Amino acid sequence: MLTDTHSHLNFKAYDVDRGEVIKRAQKEGIVCIDVGTKYETSKRAVELAESSEGIFAAIGMHPIHIKTDLLKLKMDEEEGAFRPLGEEFDKEKYKKLARSKKVVAIGEIGLDYYYKPKTTARLEKFKELQKKVFVEQLELAEELSLPVIVHCRMAFADLYEILKARKLRGVIHCFTGTIEEAQQYMDLGFYIGINGIIDKLDLKDVIIKTPLDRILVETDCPYLTPLAEGKDKRNEPIFVKHVVQKIANLKGISFDEVALATTKNAKKLFSI
Ligand SMILES: [Zn+2]
Repeated sequence: MLTDTHSHLNFKAYDVDRGEVIKRAQKEGIVCIDVGTKYETSKRAVELAESSEGIFAAIGMHPIHIKTDLLKLKMDEEEGAFRPLGEEFDKEKYKKLARSKKVVAIGEIGLDYYYKPKTTARLEKFKELQKKVFVEQLELAEELSLPVIVHCRMAFADLYEILKARKLRGVIHCFTGTIEEAQQYMDLGFYIGINGIIDKLDLKDVIIKTPLDRILVETDCPYLTPLAEGKDKRNEPIFVKHVVQKIANLKGISFDEVALATTKNAKKLFSI
């Protein structure tokens, strides 16, 4: 049994064959956490989790969906069906979604400074806005005693500063930093989320040095398809096995050992 701790089965990419994709995962005994990125996708994640065995939901607002006139954010086509662009975080609405027993985390939330305004003044405002919405969602997680699924892109210092000031459980999803950064997160009690990006970036050192009891595996599907499945293929939960295999190879241990440990970690963190 494997656990894909970060999938987006709620995205448009699965509109034609979502049922088949879920069946394939169920057949292989793969448990999935379907992760929301704004209200609409969070709602979809809850609906999907409610109607499918072995699927759980995370609800939250990704920083790229924050309503702002500071920058014209590039919209992901996968989520194009969920326009209009930009959302103001409404805690009460998310709180209502969290009434479902299938909601196991707040995510994905975090900071993303990849697309940013050009002037310093606007950039500062932009960062402050992201931090504010991130903190509001961390407070929601605290209120509901739920772990968090954190997205961080080019924002380590600010993100770490915020997490350090609180007592939260969670995972840094799609980790792409250094082992030193990973260690700082682990010292706060966070897990490190590893996915198919390990075929693109050199995370060898991080994987070798991160203890097995701190690693979670994920796909981030439909994105980041492991190389073993071919370049242009859409990713899906069953491909999480390639991530497990690569971790096993790098650590020089068996597939089963990685599968067992990461599943145990996911069960513990998300209480599933
Ligand atoms: Zn994601």
